[in-house]
Amino acid sequence: MLDLENKQLNFAVFGDIHGRIALMYTLAVLWQQHSKIKLDGLLQVGDMGAFPDSSKLDKATKKHAEKDADELGFQKFYIETPESEFYLQHKDSPCTYFVRGNHEDFDYLGNFIKPSSIDPWRKIWFIPDNQTMNVGDEYQPVKVAGFGGIAPGAEKHSRGKFAREQYRKSQKTGKLGPRFFSVTSIENISTDLYNADILMTHAGPICPELINGSMLIEELVKYVKPRVHLFGHHHQIVDRRNNLNGSLSIGLEHLEFDNESKLKYGFWGILSISPAPLSFDFMSPDIFPLLNLISRHNYRSLLTK
Ligand SMILES: [Zn+2]
Repeated sequence: MLDLENKQLNFAVFGDIHGRIALMYTLAVLWQQHSKIKLDGLLQVGDMGAFPDSSKLDKATKKHAEKDADELGFQKFYIETPESEFYLQHKDSPCTYFVRGNHEDFDYLGNFIKPSSIDPWRKIWFIPDNQTMNVGDEYQPVKVAGFGGIAPGAEKHSRGKFAREQYRKSQKTGKLGPRFFSVTSIENISTDLYNADILMTHAGPICPELINGSMLIEELVKYVKPRVHLFGHHHQIVDRRNNLNGSLSIGLEHLEFDNESKLKYGFWGILSISPAPLSFDFMSPDIFPLLNLISRHNYRSLLTK
């Protein structure tokens, strides 16, 4: 945890990127050059698109990849390639920390039991469910807790106390697909996550701003009591600030180009974390004018060594 003597740490936070690692790094490095502020890391809330092997793609990813090869970007980053070397060995490249989403190769990610780097330069780190990692500054780190995946579909049909109990029982015994998290995993959450500075989940909590959010994630947040909760998945921007304790709850959009090949709003922002206050600003052309000039067609030519 940071104490009052400590400096501010700055993180660029990204919603679901679905393989667009080169674009994520381009944006982060260009923003650093523009703002003259060094980023202490990139935080990515799942749906990284961690599919090292094309034969293991899920249905949706396969469909998207036929139209946009960037969906398969992970394949150029988990091994040494000219692309991974260019972006990850770039002098201004921060480390990335990510959790699992619901579109990943779960057999592959299941190989990582502890927080682990997935690339030859140890720049991109996966934080498995129920794990924490100290990031940002070697001597003054912040603790990031990870809990990826999405809520089991049955959660939505289990309003009311009785239905909820029935659902809990069935989830405990029933088998879930790998994209989901279970009631059991939330009930057995490690005490190590308690009071983490940052909680990263893929799904968001049920709340007035996110009626499709998860009850279980809401319970997790109540237990962990993070200073900042970051999530993605829902294609919905949430920016909730708790005035009582200064904590933040931030939901991000997906990193995507619109029909005019321009970047959408709400998929990234800058989190500044220090003893007090915390701040999160969604990125916009007002604070980063270059954004207006970045398109699907030119982003690969914007970064120089
Ligand atoms: Zn998702």
